[in-house]
Amino acid sequence: MNIIDSHCHLDFKRFDKDRDAVIRRAEEAGLSLIINSGVDYATNLSTLELASSYGMIRATLGLNPNMIAETDVNRTLDLIEERAGDALGIGEVGLDYYRNKVPKSRQKEVFLQTIELARRLDMPLILHSRDAEDVCFELVRDLDRVIFHCYGGTASLMEKVVQKNFYISLATVICYSEDHRKVVERVPLENLLIETDSPFLSPFRGKRNEPAYVIEAAREIARVKGIEMEEVAAFSLQNVKQVYNI
Ligand SMILES: [Zn+2]
Repeated sequence: MNIIDSHCHLDFKRFDKDRDAVIRRAEEAGLSLIINSGVDYATNLSTLELASSYGMIRATLGLNPNMIAETDVNRTLDLIEERAGDALGIGEVGLDYYRNKVPKSRQKEVFLQTIELARRLDMPLILHSRDAEDVCFELVRDLDRVIFHCYGGTASLMEKVVQKNFYISLATVICYSEDHRKVVERVPLENLLIETDSPFLSPFRGKRNEPAYVIEAAREIARVKGIEMEEVAAFSLQNVKQVYNI
């Protein structure tokens, strides 16, 4: 089975001790591509470094709303623009009203700057959204290519996302979260991506997540939809190629 992890953070400290082994396990599990996302200035750099060191890893460059107060925003935006040629997309970026670490108005201000960047550079936008899916959708609806990373919105918003031909990326959290059931049931395979968001959201609760476990997301989606997991993996692969033009 050819399968990919469309979103993770292998550059994070939690992989410092065994990063090579984690990537080898992913390869052995059948992964052909891993997309690693930056969340601030430092992790954009480490993401780029990872992508240049491992053939199967590609980068997206972003600024997570929870990091706004801890990183130099202008310097990060400049870096994203300068290194866009080495990246597949802009993200993760967005709004986080759940953790709410930064005032909403400031989150929105920075998010709008990143949306503008995606528009100007004509790159896909990878959206991080918690408790703010509807607001985010309204702000990105005029873009061409948007991925709702680790989608946690309602099934009805998902219908709108799908109508725009945007993508819903489901993370391994669906393996234990009943909240996602309706979305899993209804999301068309043509709009589906799968991801681990490693090191977070392990399907084996309490453990560190890693790209090889993306298979568990495919297995769960296949079970709910009553199809083969190979089909889930194949659609997700095809969709990633389409949205990122690779
Ligand atoms: Zn992430």
